[in-house]
Amino acid sequence: MPARGGRWAGFWEQRARQLQRQVQAKEERIVELETENAILHLKLAEYQEMTGKSSHAATRFCLLCDEQEGLQRGTRSSLAQLCRVIQKVKQDRKELRSSSLDLLRDCQGQQQDCGSEIVTAVQGAQRHHEAVLAWQSKAGCLEQSLRETTERYQLEKQKRKQLHNRLVELKGNIRVHCRIRPALPFDKESEDPLSQNSSVSAEVAHAVDDETVLVRWDRPGHPWINKTYNFERVYGPAESQRVVFEEVCPLLTSLLDGYNVCIMAYGQTGSGKSYTMMGPHSRKEPVLPVESQGDLGIIPRAAEELFRLISENPSRSPKVAVSVVEVYNNDIFDLLAKDSCAVTSGVKREVLTTKAGKKEIPSLTYESVHSTEEFLTLVDGRLRLRAKHATLVHADSSRSHLIITVTLTTAPSWDSPANRQSDVSVLKEPDCPSPRQPATGRRHSAAHRTSSWSPGAAPEGPTGHMEQVHAKLQLVDLAGSECAGVSGVTGAALRETSFINRSLAALADVLGALSERRGHVPYRNSKLTHLLQDVLGGDAKLLVILCVSPCRKHAAETLQSLGFGTRARQVQRGPARAGRVAPRTPR
Ligand code: ADP
Ligand code: MG
Repeated sequence: MPARGGRWAGFWEQRARQLQRQVQAKEERIVELETENAILHLKLAEYQEMTGKSSHAATRFCLLCDEQEGLQRGTRSSLAQLCRVIQKVKQDRKELRSSSLDLLRDCQGQQQDCGSEIVTAVQGAQRHHEAVLAWQSKAGCLEQSLRETTERYQLEKQKRKQLHNRLVELKGNIRVHCRIRPALPFDKESEDPLSQNSSVSAEVAHAVDDETVLVRWDRPGHPWINKTYNFERVYGPAESQRVVFEEVCPLLTSLLDGYNVCIMAYGQTGSGKSYTMMGPHSRKEPVLPVESQGDLGIIPRAAEELFRLISENPSRSPKVAVSVVEVYNNDIFDLLAKDSCAVTSGVKREVLTTKAGKKEIPSLTYESVHSTEEFLTLVDGRLRLRAKHATLVHADSSRSHLIITVTLTTAPSWDSPANRQSDVSVLKEPDCPSPRQPATGRRHSAAHRTSSWSPGAAPEGPTGHMEQVHAKLQLVDLAGSECAGVSGVTGAALRETSFINRSLAALADVLGALSERRGHVPYRNSKLTHLLQDVLGGDAKLLVILCVSPCRKHAAETLQSLGFGTRARQVQRGPARAGRVAPRTPR
C-alpha cells in the first residue's frame, strides 16, 4: 500500500502542477484579457469619443441634409420651371424652325424670282448701255456739229456785224450802243412805293442779248409795256468799262486813218453817262496808269489807245491838241481859256460857220498834249470847272454838256491833195505865237503850249509850213434829261434843267429831221446842235451811247432814251469820209 499511495500522490501532484499551470495560464490569460479589456476600454472611449463626434457630425449632416433637401426642393421647383421654359423654348424653336423653313422656302422662291429679274435687268441694262453708247456717240456728233455750228454762227455773226458796220458806214448811220447800268444803293433810298412791293420787279430794263434791250413795265391803270429795242451793241449791268471800251476802240483806228469820230453819251441824269465817259467821280489820282484803274471810262482809255497807236507808227506821228468846251444854259464856254488875270474859268465863245460851211469856234483854246498823263491831267483839271448841282436823282449831276475835242494834225505835205482844199483848218503849235487874237471872250494871257484855232487863218508851223488837220475826235458827255418834279430842283437849277431839256429836245428834233430827210434841219435851235452840226449831219463816224437806269422809277426816261436811240439809228447821212488826208482802208 505505500507504493499505491505514492502513485496517488504523484498523480495528485502532477495534477496539482497541471492545475497550477492551468491557473497560471488562466491568470496570464486574465492579465492578457484585462490588458485587452483596458485596450478595449480605451478603444471604447476612443470610439465613444468618435461616436460623439460622429453624432455631432451626423447632427450637422442631418442639418446639411435638411438644408440640402431645402435646396433640392428649390432646385426641383427651378428645375420644373426650367423644364417648362425648356418646353416653351422647344416649342418656340419648333415654331421658329417651321417659320424659318417657310421663310427659307419663301426666300428661295424670291431668290429664284430675283435671279430671273436680275438676269432680265442685266439684259435690259446691257441693252440700255448699248443704247447709251449709241446716244453718247450721237451726242458727241451733235456736240461736234453744235461746236461747228456755233463757230459758224460766230463767224457769220462777225461777218454780219462787219457788213452791218459797213452798211452803217455807207448809209452814214449813227451807231447806237445802249448801256444798262446796275441798280445802285441810291436807287433803293428813293425807291417808289410800287417796287417796294416784292412781287413787282424793281428792274424794268433788261439786256436780253448783246443787241437787244427788253423793257417790261406794268403800271396799275396803264397798259402793260413789253417792248424790245435793237442797237449795234447792248451792255448789261455786269459789263465792265473795259468791255465797253473794247467795242469803241476800233473807232480810234479810224481816227488815225483820217476819219472824224464822235462818241456821245446820252441819257437821263444819273444813268451813268459821266461814269461811262470818264469813270467814277471819286477818282483821286488822274495820272495813274490807265491799266491800273479798272473802272476808268472811255475818255482816258481812248487817250491811252490814241497815244499807243501813234507810238506804233512814229513816222506819221500826228500832233495831238485838246480843247474842252461846255454848253451851259445855251452858252458855249471854253474851259481851257484863262481870263485876263490868268485865272482859269470858262470863257464864253460863239460858233461860226466858215466859208466852206463848217462849224468852228473862233479863238477856241487848244493845248498840245504828248502823253496820256498830260491829257488826263489837263482834262481832269478842267472838268472841275464844269457846272454841277446836286438833285434828288443824282448828287453829282452835271448841268452842262461837255465836249472834249482831240485834234490830230499832221506835218505839212505840199503835194497832198488835202493841202489844195480851201477849208483847211489849221492848228498852231504851242511855241508859235498865234497870228490872230480871239474875236470874243476875255482871254488871253496865253499860257505856254496854248494855241488858238481859227477857221480861215493860216498860221505856220515851226518849220514855216502850214499844218493840216488830220482828224478830230469829239468826246461828248451830255447833261442828263430830267423831270423837274422828280429831281426836286428849284430856282437857278430849275432854269438849268429847262435849258438842258430844251437842248436835248433840239438834239432829238435834229435827229428826227435827219431821219425823215427833211429839207430843213433845225441845227440852230440850240447851241448844242449848232456846235455839233458837222458831227450830226456830216461825215463823222458818230457813236451814241445810250445810258439807262434799269429801275422802275426811271422807266419813263429809259423809254424816252431808247426812243431817242432808235430815232438816231434811222438817220442816214451818206458814207463817212476820211478827213483831209488820203484815207487808208476804212475799218
Ligand atoms: P450821269 O452822268 O448820267 O448823270 P453818272 O455817270 O454820274 O450819271 O452816274 C451816277 C452814279 O452811278 C455815279 O455814282 C456812278 O459812279 C454810278 N454808276 C453809273 N454807271 C455805273 C456802272 N456801270 N457801274 C457802277 N456804277 C455806275
Ligand atoms: Mg454826268
